[in-house]
Amino acid sequence: MAFEGLADRLQKTIQKIKGKGKVTEADVKEMTREVRLALLEADVNFKVVKDLIKRIKERAIGQEVMESLTPGQQVIKVVKEELTDLMGGEQSKIAVAKKTPTIIMMAGLQGAGKTTTTGKLANLLRKKYNRNPLLVAADVYRPAAINQLQTLGKQLNLSVFSLGTEISPVDIAKQAVEHAKKEHHDYVIIDTAGRLHVDEHLMDELKQMEESVNPDEVFLVVDAMTGQDAVNVAESFDEQLNITGVILTKLDGDTRGGAALSIKAVTGKPIKFAATGEKMDQLEPFHPERMASRILG
Ligand code: GDP
Repeated sequence: MAFEGLADRLQKTIQKIKGKGKVTEADVKEMTREVRLALLEADVNFKVVKDLIKRIKERAIGQEVMESLTPGQQVIKVVKEELTDLMGGEQSKIAVAKKTPTIIMMAGLQGAGKTTTTGKLANLLRKKYNRNPLLVAADVYRPAAINQLQTLGKQLNLSVFSLGTEISPVDIAKQAVEHAKKEHHDYVIIDTAGRLHVDEHLMDELKQMEESVNPDEVFLVVDAMTGQDAVNVAESFDEQLNITGVILTKLDGDTRGGAALSIKAVTGKPIKFAATGEKMDQLEPFHPERMASRILG
């Protein structure tokens, strides 16, 4: 399971300070040194770690903690709050357009889990929020992606809009929105093409799509297993598109956690959903606080 190494190390570190009736500056220093190493080893961005440790130290050595009756526990509370903040603090909500349909564009590299996540998100919107989403197959470069989405649509009993591969993705997106209005779909989720690497042509096309359908959300789907690469990918997509949130996939794998813990701090974009498996019900809204609790035990 994800974060195992990080969770193990942090929990051990925390145990040492937890029951202390008195916490000295040296104790805090020792703890933050270990937390720092654990985070770096989990592939968390260097600068993110540095800033986080600075904040933890400032607060943990502060009066509030030192004078509390349970200083050990106070220190842990500080670490937990800072980890939660790092991942975005509050859980963020999915947009609802003033005028239906709400348009969501899915972007990301090939293999990140875009098509699968498109199906999962539609499933979640219907089951949890009682919505009627339309799935849009706009990945014209990979005919298998269109079939994959159609199969998911059948399996979930959801409509899939497709115009084949001989038409531009921008036109597909535009026509899909018109179709959604006619058929009273309240959400449109557009699955776009990915490449193995960020490339200019792909970005231009995504930018054109963004300009022409004016999406309410542009979700970047990133593979949590790729660690710092996921953060770099997020930065490059964000330079070109108005990314509104990140969906982290493959959190069921043995990711060390670096992406989950760095992406919000580096890009400023919140993680909105987390995927934990290949099945259609394995997508959940991302809760920073729950994730921090899971890591800290
Ligand atoms: P796309 O190229 O971005 O559209 O990626 P796909 O949706 O085709 O997914 C690529 C592979 O990753 C597929 O085999 C998916 O089943 C798998 N996948 C997607 N999300 C998850 C996840 O959260 N966990 C796991 N274990 N596999 C996933």
